[in-house]
Amino acid sequence: MLGLYNPWLVALSILVAVVASYTTLDLARRVTSSHGKLARVWLLGGACSMGTGIWAMHFVGMLAFSLPIAMAYQVSTTLISMLIAIVVSGFALFIVSRRDVNLRELLGGAIFMGLGISAMHYTGMAAMDLSPPIAYDGLTVAASVVIAIVASLAALVIALKLPSYDAKIARPAQVVSALIMGFAITGMHYTAMSAANFSPNTICLSGTSVNNNWLATLISVVSFTILGVTLLLSVFDARLALRTGKLQASLSKTKESLDQAHDRLRHLALHDALTNLPNRAFLEQRVSQALQPVHLASSHTALMFLDLDRFKIVNDSLGHQAGDEVLKEAALRIRSRLRHEDTIARIGGDEFVVVLPGLEHIEYAALVAQKLLDAFVTPISLRGAEINTSVSIGVSVAPQDGSALDELLGRADVAMYHAKKLGRNNYQFYAPLLNESAGKRLSQENSFRRAISEEQFELWYQPKISMGTGRVVGLEALIRWRHPERGLVPPVEFIPLAEETGLIVPLGAWVIRTACRQNKLWQDIGMPKLRIAVNVSAAQFRQPTLLRFISDVLQETQLDPDCLELEVTESVVMYNPEETALTLGKLREMGIHISIDDFGTGYSSLSYLKKLPIDTLKVDRSFVKDIIANGDDAAIVRAIVALAQTLKLNIVAEGVEDQAQFAFLSAIGCDEYQGYYFSRPVQPHDIVQMLGQPTPIAAA
Ligand code: C2E
Ligand code: CA
Ligand code: CA
Repeated sequence: MLGLYNPWLVALSILVAVVASYTTLDLARRVTSSHGKLARVWLLGGACSMGTGIWAMHFVGMLAFSLPIAMAYQVSTTLISMLIAIVVSGFALFIVSRRDVNLRELLGGAIFMGLGISAMHYTGMAAMDLSPPIAYDGLTVAASVVIAIVASLAALVIALKLPSYDAKIARPAQVVSALIMGFAITGMHYTAMSAANFSPNTICLSGTSVNNNWLATLISVVSFTILGVTLLLSVFDARLALRTGKLQASLSKTKESLDQAHDRLRHLALHDALTNLPNRAFLEQRVSQALQPVHLASSHTALMFLDLDRFKIVNDSLGHQAGDEVLKEAALRIRSRLRHEDTIARIGGDEFVVVLPGLEHIEYAALVAQKLLDAFVTPISLRGAEINTSVSIGVSVAPQDGSALDELLGRADVAMYHAKKLGRNNYQFYAPLLNESAGKRLSQENSFRRAISEEQFELWYQPKISMGTGRVVGLEALIRWRHPERGLVPPVEFIPLAEETGLIVPLGAWVIRTACRQNKLWQDIGMPKLRIAVNVSAAQFRQPTLLRFISDVLQETQLDPDCLELEVTESVVMYNPEETALTLGKLREMGIHISIDDFGTGYSSLSYLKKLPIDTLKVDRSFVKDIIANGDDAAIVRAIVALAQTLKLNIVAEGVEDQAQFAFLSAIGCDEYQGYYFSRPVQPHDIVQMLGQPTPIAAA
């Protein structure tokens, strides 16, 4: 007896198989990506839904087949076949939910599944309860079992592979996989069906027949519903998981970025943004360690104050960006000359501090200082240009110069200032009459005090000459100490000591009074009227009694205020620009001239310069020194002269030593000069001689 297939129902069975497969693959992923109880729920629910799906496919497939006799199915056997399908599905899901499945497990699983599906099928067939029983063709049955195993294997492999696909291709891959699996399962079914031979007089023992079409439709609808609901749940759960996953990820990201921000803030608080070097706050932390008495008992800690020479000029003439580059490069060069345990910090514009802890001998600090100077021998190249830089270094040593950071910094700063005074590009230790021992220092201080009371000082005078006329137009008073044993001591050797001890105030007063008196004396003997310039140091300038004192001196000496000029350095002026401007204004109202000394070495903010009541800029002699050989210096001086011209200031070049320098400065528009080229500072009687005769016109 031959059976007939209803093509619609066959198609429906295939569809059921494909949908079931698709759902199963989704479930497999759910089981894999869930944990604990939820995973078990998914496994159980998935097994039921997938089992019914496969079973429905099988049953619809059976219904698609009709024998020319009345057919019916035993309910209990049918239910058993369904149970088998569910158990097999549960097993399959369990296998794919394990992340790493080895080949043996995979093959074993496939065989178990294949046998299970076959068992389901043949149990389902048995539910027909035909008489005589169905005769099976052994070979075809075997083929159907093999197909079932192969289909299971394919299904397992696909299900295991799928989660590793990229999100974009995961969906299409799942559809294709579902098709392959669906066809494999139906293939198994129809192969198994073809193995069945029905004898011509077969009758169905299991009760009345139902309309196949209706039953098939009903089963399909029910299984589609189950599958659909499962799929929906699965998709929903996947979304939820994705959302929670994302939420968790973003939460942990937020925490991470908070941590990062915190680290960053900490770093910013302790570092200088430009060079990434520690800043002052960090320096304090680092140094407090090195300055503890335990450390200082057995070793020295040296603190160096480094200041880039002429940095301000680089900044003003080449721009801030170039300035920043120079600072970064300087930071690198300094760092590269230090030991690991040393600290370098940037504490201001072009100011760096280096701390060398654990020094056995102080001399080691001198070696390092020299290394740091050497680090700037090669010019810094910047966008093709070569910038010549150097540093001035002041060194203080703990414990001898103090053991508090502020104290050491202050003293290193004093020493650095001194290094600048000595023409920059050098290092100086902090100590009065520098680099000498504490005992010696005390005796120096004592002898210096005695020098003041005994008036061991002299004023020497250096002429200022007009570039245009070649005539002497002024004199600068420069102090000398006629030491009973050491002979004539130059000011660089005692002015720092005078400043530290405050003795600069009475000393400076003596200078002003003496210079005014001297000038008046010369005028009284009929010499040409000259303006006399005196150097006023910072401490002296800040004396509240300064104005009173000067007007008293002018009163007392009867010198025309127009014949007095005060030279103050940039750093004095910039210390407190507003107040300085007031004081300078009052001095000018009195008729006194004001000039900014050592211009170019300090930090003059050009905007302040414009507001200050001053008459003259004195170009620092360190620029003049190399003006012929060094293009940078020439450019700087040109810029200063141009600046002075726009601000309508008189400009004086210091330290002019030869004809070439003179010619250059004259050509770019300097008004006056001062230097060995015309005359060294000389004693008063030499001035009389010099001015008594007609002044020679300097060759142009
Ligand atoms: P300064 O005010 O820049 O004085 C100019 C210095 O340059 C003087 O050094 C002078 O001798 C030197 N000089 C002049 N022409 C040339 C030259 O052609 N070549 C070279 N190489 N040097 C030249 P001096 O007299 O040793 O004074 C050094 C510094 O000491 C002065 O620098 C000034 O800052 C300070 N000083 C001098 N006298 C006084 C004073 O009475 N009071 C104060 N507070 N400081 C003073
Ligand atoms: Ca001066
Ligand atoms: Ca000067």
